[in-house]
Amino acid sequence: MFAERIDRVRARMDDLGVDVLLLSVGPDLPYLTGYEAMPLERLTMLVLPREADATLVVPRLEAPRVVERPEIFGVRSWDETDDPIAVVAGLTGAVDRVAVGDRTWARFVVDLQHALPGASWSRASEILGPLRARKDAAEIAALRRAGEAADRVAGALQSGQIPLAGRTEAEVSADLGSRLLAEGHQRVNFAIVAAGANAASPHHEPGSQVIAEGEGVLCDFGGTMLGPDGVGYCSDITRCVHLGEPTEELAEAYAVLLDAQQAAVAAAVVGTTCEEVDATARRAIASAGWGHHFIHRTGHGIGIEEHEDPYIVTGNQAALEPGHAFSIEPGIYVPGRFGLRLEDIVVAADGGPDPLNHADHDLALL
Ligand code: ZN
Ligand code: ZN
Ligand code: ZN
Repeated sequence: MFAERIDRVRARMDDLGVDVLLLSVGPDLPYLTGYEAMPLERLTMLVLPREADATLVVPRLEAPRVVERPEIFGVRSWDETDDPIAVVAGLTGAVDRVAVGDRTWARFVVDLQHALPGASWSRASEILGPLRARKDAAEIAALRRAGEAADRVAGALQSGQIPLAGRTEAEVSADLGSRLLAEGHQRVNFAIVAAGANAASPHHEPGSQVIAEGEGVLCDFGGTMLGPDGVGYCSDITRCVHLGEPTEELAEAYAVLLDAQQAAVAAAVVGTTCEEVDATARRAIASAGWGHHFIHRTGHGIGIEEHEDPYIVTGNQAALEPGHAFSIEPGIYVPGRFGLRLEDIVVAADGGPDPLNHADHDLALL
Protein backbone atom coordinates (compact mmCIF):
# COMPACT_ATOMS: atom_id res chain seq x y z
CA MET A 1 0.00 0.00 0.00
CA PHE A 2 2.69 2.55 1.00
CA ALA A 3 4.84 1.52 -1.96
CA GLU A 4 1.95 2.15 -4.38
CA ARG A 5 1.32 5.55 -2.83
CA ILE A 6 4.98 6.47 -3.18
CA ASP A 7 4.88 5.39 -6.84
CA ARG A 8 1.92 7.72 -7.40
CA VAL A 9 3.74 10.53 -5.58
CA ARG A 10 6.82 10.05 -7.78
CA ALA A 11 4.65 10.14 -10.92
CA ARG A 12 3.17 13.46 -9.82
CA MET A 13 6.62 14.82 -8.90
CA ASP A 14 7.60 13.93 -12.44
CA ASP A 15 4.57 15.77 -13.89
CA LEU A 16 5.22 18.84 -11.75
CA GLY A 17 9.00 18.81 -12.17
CA VAL A 18 9.70 18.45 -8.44
CA ASP A 19 13.14 16.99 -7.61
CA VAL A 20 12.67 16.22 -3.93
CA LEU A 21 9.78 16.03 -1.48
CA LEU A 22 10.44 16.89 2.18
CA LEU A 23 7.83 15.83 4.77
CA SER A 24 7.86 16.51 8.50
CA VAL A 25 4.98 16.86 10.99
CA GLY A 26 1.45 16.51 9.61
CA PRO A 27 -0.52 13.81 7.83
CA ASP A 28 1.46 13.41 4.58
CA LEU A 29 4.26 11.51 6.33
CA PRO A 30 2.03 8.82 7.92
CA TYR A 31 0.10 8.55 4.64
CA LEU A 32 3.31 7.53 2.85
CA THR A 33 5.21 5.68 5.59
CA GLY A 34 2.88 4.83 8.49
CA TYR A 35 5.09 7.01 10.75
CA GLU A 36 3.84 10.21 12.37
CA ALA A 37 6.56 12.71 13.34
CA MET A 38 6.52 13.95 16.93
CA PRO A 39 5.64 17.66 16.89
CA LEU A 40 8.74 18.69 18.81
CA GLU A 41 11.73 20.94 18.24
CA ARG A 42 13.94 18.13 16.93
CA LEU A 43 13.60 17.68 13.17
CA THR A 44 12.00 14.57 11.72
CA MET A 45 11.96 14.63 7.91
CA LEU A 46 11.35 12.19 5.10
CA VAL A 47 13.62 13.00 2.16
CA LEU A 48 11.98 11.56 -0.94
CA PRO A 49 13.96 12.27 -4.12
CA ARG A 50 12.14 11.74 -7.39
CA GLU A 51 14.71 9.25 -8.57
CA ALA A 52 16.70 7.95 -5.58
CA ASP A 53 15.73 6.00 -2.45
CA ALA A 54 13.80 7.74 0.34
CA THR A 55 15.33 8.33 3.78
CA LEU A 56 13.61 9.11 7.06
CA VAL A 57 15.78 11.50 9.08
CA VAL A 58 14.81 11.09 12.72
CA PRO A 59 16.22 12.10 16.13
CA ARG A 60 18.07 9.10 17.60
CA LEU A 61 15.89 9.03 20.73
CA GLU A 62 12.75 8.77 18.57
CA ALA A 63 14.16 6.14 16.18
CA PRO A 64 12.82 3.23 18.30
CA ARG A 65 9.28 4.44 17.49
CA VAL A 66 9.81 3.96 13.76
CA VAL A 67 8.32 0.81 12.24
CA GLU A 68 11.02 0.14 9.68
CA ARG A 69 9.90 -0.51 6.12
CA PRO A 70 13.21 -0.93 4.30
CA GLU A 71 11.46 -1.55 0.98
CA ILE A 72 10.09 2.01 1.22
CA PHE A 73 12.63 4.11 3.14
CA GLY A 74 15.96 3.92 4.94
CA VAL A 75 16.38 5.42 8.41
CA ARG A 76 19.09 7.96 9.23
CA SER A 77 19.01 8.86 12.91
CA TRP A 78 20.84 11.94 14.10
CA ASP A 79 22.52 12.60 17.46
CA GLU A 80 21.99 15.60 19.72
CA THR A 81 25.18 17.25 18.48
CA ASP A 82 24.47 16.67 14.77
CA ASP A 83 22.95 19.33 12.52
CA PRO A 84 19.81 17.72 11.06
CA ILE A 85 19.45 20.49 8.46
CA ALA A 86 22.88 19.55 7.12
CA VAL A 87 21.87 15.88 7.16
CA VAL A 88 18.79 16.64 5.04
CA ALA A 89 20.73 18.91 2.68
CA GLY A 90 23.36 16.18 2.29
CA LEU A 91 20.65 13.71 1.27
CA THR A 92 19.01 16.01 -1.27
CA GLY A 93 22.23 17.21 -2.87
CA ALA A 94 21.92 20.17 -5.25
CA VAL A 95 18.30 20.45 -6.35
CA ASP A 96 16.25 22.94 -8.38
CA ARG A 97 12.73 22.26 -7.17
CA VAL A 98 11.73 21.28 -3.65
CA ALA A 99 8.23 20.54 -2.33
CA VAL A 100 7.84 20.79 1.44
CA GLY A 101 4.98 19.54 3.65
CA ASP A 102 2.41 22.29 4.30
CA ARG A 103 2.67 21.92 8.06
CA THR A 104 6.45 21.95 8.30
CA TRP A 105 7.51 24.52 10.87
CA ALA A 106 8.98 27.79 9.62
CA ARG A 107 12.12 27.30 11.76
CA PHE A 108 13.03 24.26 9.64
CA VAL A 109 11.86 25.66 6.29
CA VAL A 110 13.85 28.88 6.77
CA ASP A 111 17.00 26.96 7.71
CA LEU A 112 16.54 24.53 4.81
CA GLN A 113 16.14 27.41 2.37
CA HIS A 114 19.54 28.71 3.51
CA ALA A 115 21.04 25.24 3.20
CA LEU A 116 19.65 24.73 -0.33
CA PRO A 117 20.29 28.10 -1.99
CA GLY A 118 18.92 28.54 -5.48
CA ALA A 119 16.17 25.94 -5.12
CA SER A 120 12.57 26.97 -5.75
CA TRP A 121 10.00 25.86 -3.18
CA SER A 122 6.41 24.68 -3.42
CA ARG A 123 3.89 23.10 -1.09
CA ALA A 124 3.61 19.30 -0.87
CA SER A 125 -0.18 19.57 -1.00
CA GLU A 126 0.16 20.24 -4.75
CA ILE A 127 1.47 16.68 -5.01
CA LEU A 128 -0.36 14.91 -2.21
CA GLY A 129 -3.69 16.77 -1.95
CA PRO A 130 -5.37 15.10 -4.95
CA LEU A 131 -3.87 11.69 -4.05
CA ARG A 132 -5.00 11.79 -0.42
CA ALA A 133 -8.45 13.07 -1.45
CA ARG A 134 -9.22 9.84 -3.33
CA LYS A 135 -9.73 7.27 -0.60
CA ASP A 136 -9.23 3.57 -1.30
CA ALA A 137 -11.54 0.86 0.04
CA ALA A 138 -9.57 0.39 3.29
CA GLU A 139 -9.60 4.12 3.98
CA ILE A 140 -13.35 4.36 3.33
CA ALA A 141 -13.89 1.39 5.66
CA ALA A 142 -11.89 3.23 8.35
CA LEU A 143 -13.91 6.42 7.84
CA ARG A 144 -17.11 4.37 8.00
CA ARG A 145 -16.10 2.78 11.32
CA ALA A 146 -15.28 6.23 12.72
CA GLY A 147 -18.62 7.54 11.43
CA GLU A 148 -20.51 4.66 13.06
CA ALA A 149 -18.78 5.37 16.38
CA ALA A 150 -19.68 9.08 16.13
CA ASP A 151 -23.26 8.09 15.26
CA ARG A 152 -23.51 6.09 18.49
CA VAL A 153 -22.44 9.15 20.49
CA ALA A 154 -24.95 11.30 18.58
CA GLY A 155 -27.65 8.70 19.33
CA ALA A 156 -26.88 8.92 23.04
CA LEU A 157 -27.20 12.71 22.83
CA GLN A 158 -30.47 12.58 20.90
CA SER A 159 -32.05 10.00 23.22
CA GLY A 160 -31.32 12.02 26.33
CA GLN A 161 -28.62 9.70 27.74
CA ILE A 162 -26.30 12.66 28.11
CA PRO A 163 -27.79 15.05 30.68
CA LEU A 164 -27.90 18.64 29.42
CA ALA A 165 -30.14 20.92 31.52
CA GLY A 166 -28.32 22.49 34.45
CA ARG A 167 -24.86 21.49 33.23
CA THR A 168 -22.23 23.64 31.59
CA GLU A 169 -21.32 23.40 27.92
CA ALA A 170 -17.81 22.36 29.00
CA GLU A 171 -19.15 19.44 31.06
CA VAL A 172 -21.25 18.19 28.15
CA SER A 173 -18.27 18.62 25.82
CA ALA A 174 -16.18 16.44 28.15
CA ASP A 175 -18.95 13.80 28.10
CA LEU A 176 -19.04 13.77 24.30
CA GLY A 177 -15.25 13.41 24.23
CA SER A 178 -15.16 10.50 26.66
CA ARG A 179 -17.93 8.76 24.74
CA LEU A 180 -15.98 9.15 21.48
CA LEU A 181 -13.07 7.39 23.20
CA ALA A 182 -15.35 4.70 24.69
CA GLU A 183 -16.73 4.06 21.18
CA GLY A 184 -13.27 3.33 19.82
CA HIS A 185 -11.62 6.62 18.91
CA GLN A 186 -7.97 7.01 19.94
CA ARG A 187 -8.16 10.80 20.09
CA VAL A 188 -10.81 13.50 20.48
CA ASN A 189 -10.23 16.31 17.98
CA PHE A 190 -12.99 18.66 19.11
CA ALA A 191 -16.38 18.64 20.84
CA ILE A 192 -18.20 21.92 20.31
CA VAL A 193 -21.22 22.38 22.59
CA ALA A 194 -23.05 25.67 22.07
CA ALA A 195 -26.24 26.49 23.97
CA GLY A 196 -28.86 29.05 23.00
CA ALA A 197 -27.44 32.15 21.34
CA ASN A 198 -23.88 30.81 21.67
CA ALA A 199 -24.67 28.49 18.74
CA ALA A 200 -24.76 31.53 16.43
CA SER A 201 -20.92 31.37 16.60
CA PRO A 202 -20.08 28.33 14.41
CA HIS A 203 -16.80 27.52 16.20
CA HIS A 204 -17.98 28.43 19.71
CA GLU A 205 -15.60 27.36 22.49
CA PRO A 206 -17.68 25.41 25.05
CA GLY A 207 -17.46 27.25 28.35
CA SER A 208 -19.07 27.88 31.70
CA GLN A 209 -22.54 28.72 30.35
CA VAL A 210 -25.16 26.56 32.05
CA ILE A 211 -27.61 24.94 29.62
CA ALA A 212 -31.19 25.94 30.42
CA GLU A 213 -34.67 24.57 29.65
CA GLY A 214 -36.10 26.02 26.44
CA GLU A 215 -32.68 26.28 24.75
CA GLY A 216 -31.32 24.64 21.65
CA VAL A 217 -27.92 22.95 21.93
CA LEU A 218 -25.63 22.50 18.92
CA CYS A 219 -23.07 19.69 19.27
CA ASP A 220 -20.30 19.22 16.68
CA PHE A 221 -17.74 16.58 17.58
CA GLY A 222 -15.22 14.20 16.12
CA GLY A 223 -12.06 12.28 16.73
CA THR A 224 -9.48 10.04 15.17
CA MET A 225 -9.85 6.28 15.01
CA LEU A 226 -7.12 3.84 14.06
CA GLY A 227 -7.35 2.63 10.46
CA PRO A 228 -5.21 0.48 8.14
CA ASP A 229 -1.49 0.17 8.99
CA GLY A 230 -1.83 2.17 12.19
CA VAL A 231 -2.85 5.41 10.47
CA GLY A 232 -5.81 7.24 12.04
CA TYR A 233 -8.92 8.47 10.22
CA CYS A 234 -11.34 11.16 11.43
CA SER A 235 -15.01 11.40 12.30
CA ASP A 236 -16.98 14.67 12.32
CA ILE A 237 -20.71 15.04 12.96
CA THR A 238 -23.08 17.83 14.02
CA ARG A 239 -26.50 17.36 15.54
CA CYS A 240 -28.80 19.86 17.27
CA VAL A 241 -31.13 19.03 20.13
CA HIS A 242 -33.69 21.23 21.87
CA LEU A 243 -34.80 21.25 25.50
CA GLY A 244 -38.56 21.62 25.29
CA GLU A 245 -40.53 23.10 22.41
CA PRO A 246 -38.57 25.30 20.01
CA THR A 247 -39.89 28.67 18.87
CA GLU A 248 -41.73 28.70 15.56
CA GLU A 249 -38.82 30.66 14.05
CA LEU A 250 -36.25 28.05 15.11
CA ALA A 251 -38.42 25.12 14.00
CA GLU A 252 -38.94 26.75 10.60
CA ALA A 253 -35.20 27.43 10.21
CA TYR A 254 -34.42 23.81 11.11
CA ALA A 255 -36.84 22.49 8.48
CA VAL A 256 -35.11 24.65 5.87
CA LEU A 257 -31.67 23.47 7.04
CA LEU A 258 -32.69 19.81 6.90
CA ASP A 259 -33.97 20.18 3.33
CA ALA A 260 -30.81 22.02 2.30
CA GLN A 261 -28.52 19.42 3.85
CA GLN A 262 -30.36 16.48 2.29
CA ALA A 263 -30.42 18.20 -1.11
CA ALA A 264 -26.66 18.80 -0.94
CA VAL A 265 -26.00 15.17 0.07
CA ALA A 266 -28.10 14.01 -2.90
CA ALA A 267 -26.15 16.39 -5.18
CA ALA A 268 -22.78 14.91 -4.15
CA VAL A 269 -22.52 12.75 -7.24
CA VAL A 270 -19.26 11.83 -8.99
CA GLY A 271 -18.63 14.39 -11.74
CA THR A 272 -20.53 17.23 -10.05
CA THR A 273 -18.31 20.18 -9.15
CA CYS A 274 -17.64 20.95 -5.50
CA GLU A 275 -19.06 24.45 -5.97
CA GLU A 276 -22.31 23.05 -7.37
CA VAL A 277 -22.76 20.92 -4.23
CA ASP A 278 -22.19 24.08 -2.18
CA ALA A 279 -24.64 26.02 -4.36
CA THR A 280 -27.31 23.34 -3.86
CA ALA A 281 -27.30 23.87 -0.10
CA ARG A 282 -27.03 27.65 -0.49
CA ARG A 283 -29.97 27.90 -2.93
CA ALA A 284 -32.26 25.95 -0.60
CA ILE A 285 -31.42 28.19 2.36
CA ALA A 286 -31.49 31.43 0.34
CA SER A 287 -34.83 30.69 -1.31
CA ALA A 288 -36.38 30.34 2.16
CA GLY A 289 -34.98 33.77 3.07
CA TRP A 290 -32.17 32.67 5.40
CA GLY A 291 -29.29 33.04 2.92
CA HIS A 292 -27.41 35.79 4.77
CA HIS A 293 -27.37 33.58 7.89
CA PHE A 294 -25.41 30.77 6.15
CA ILE A 295 -21.94 32.22 6.67
CA HIS A 296 -19.51 29.41 5.81
CA ARG A 297 -18.75 26.89 3.06
CA THR A 298 -20.87 23.74 2.86
CA GLY A 299 -18.10 21.31 3.70
CA HIS A 300 -14.51 20.08 3.78
CA GLY A 301 -12.72 16.90 2.82
CA ILE A 302 -11.87 14.49 5.64
CA GLY A 303 -9.43 11.64 6.08
CA ILE A 304 -6.24 11.54 8.14
CA GLU A 305 -6.92 15.24 8.75
CA GLU A 306 -10.25 16.58 9.97
CA HIS A 307 -10.10 19.24 7.23
CA GLU A 308 -8.41 18.45 3.90
CA ASP A 309 -9.14 18.44 0.15
CA PRO A 310 -11.69 18.67 -1.41
CA TYR A 311 -13.36 21.81 -0.06
CA ILE A 312 -17.07 22.14 -0.88
CA VAL A 313 -17.02 25.86 -1.52
CA THR A 314 -17.92 28.47 -4.14
CA GLY A 315 -15.04 28.77 -6.59
CA ASN A 316 -13.88 25.14 -6.32
CA GLN A 317 -14.63 23.96 -9.84
CA ALA A 318 -12.99 20.58 -9.33
CA ALA A 319 -15.36 17.68 -9.96
CA LEU A 320 -16.04 15.07 -7.31
CA GLU A 321 -14.15 11.83 -7.98
CA PRO A 322 -14.92 8.32 -6.75
CA GLY A 323 -13.46 8.00 -3.25
CA HIS A 324 -13.69 11.67 -2.32
CA ALA A 325 -14.86 11.93 1.32
CA PHE A 326 -16.15 15.22 2.71
CA SER A 327 -18.61 16.83 5.07
CA ILE A 328 -21.96 18.34 4.09
CA GLU A 329 -22.69 20.81 6.88
CA PRO A 330 -24.82 23.82 6.06
CA GLY A 331 -25.82 26.07 8.96
CA ILE A 332 -28.13 28.94 9.84
CA TYR A 333 -26.81 31.43 12.41
CA VAL A 334 -28.88 34.28 13.83
CA PRO A 335 -26.69 36.42 16.11
CA GLY A 336 -28.12 36.93 19.57
CA ARG A 337 -30.81 34.28 19.08
CA PHE A 338 -29.77 30.80 17.88
CA GLY A 339 -27.60 28.75 15.59
CA LEU A 340 -28.22 25.49 13.75
CA ARG A 341 -25.95 23.14 11.77
CA LEU A 342 -26.47 19.64 10.42
CA GLU A 343 -23.42 17.64 9.34
CA ASP A 344 -22.76 14.25 7.82
CA ILE A 345 -19.67 12.80 6.18
CA VAL A 346 -20.38 11.59 2.64
CA VAL A 347 -18.32 9.58 0.14
CA ALA A 348 -18.76 10.21 -3.58
CA ALA A 349 -19.08 6.63 -4.80
CA ASP A 350 -19.68 5.20 -8.26
CA GLY A 351 -23.14 4.13 -7.11
CA GLY A 352 -24.03 7.63 -5.85
CA PRO A 353 -23.53 9.57 -2.62
CA ASP A 354 -22.67 7.23 0.26
CA PRO A 355 -23.36 8.91 3.63
CA LEU A 356 -21.21 7.60 6.50
CA ASN A 357 -23.47 9.08 9.21
CA HIS A 358 -26.98 7.83 9.86
CA ALA A 359 -27.86 9.32 13.25
CA ASP A 360 -31.38 10.77 13.15
CA HIS A 361 -31.52 14.02 11.21
CA ASP A 362 -34.49 15.62 12.95
CA LEU A 363 -34.19 18.20 15.70
CA ALA A 364 -34.39 15.99 18.80
CA LEU A 365 -36.75 17.41 21.40
CA LEU A 366 -35.72 16.47 24.92
ZN1 ZN B 1 -16.10 23.74 11.62
ZN1 ZN C 1 -18.09 19.22 12.46
ZN1 ZN D 1 -16.93 19.40 9.64
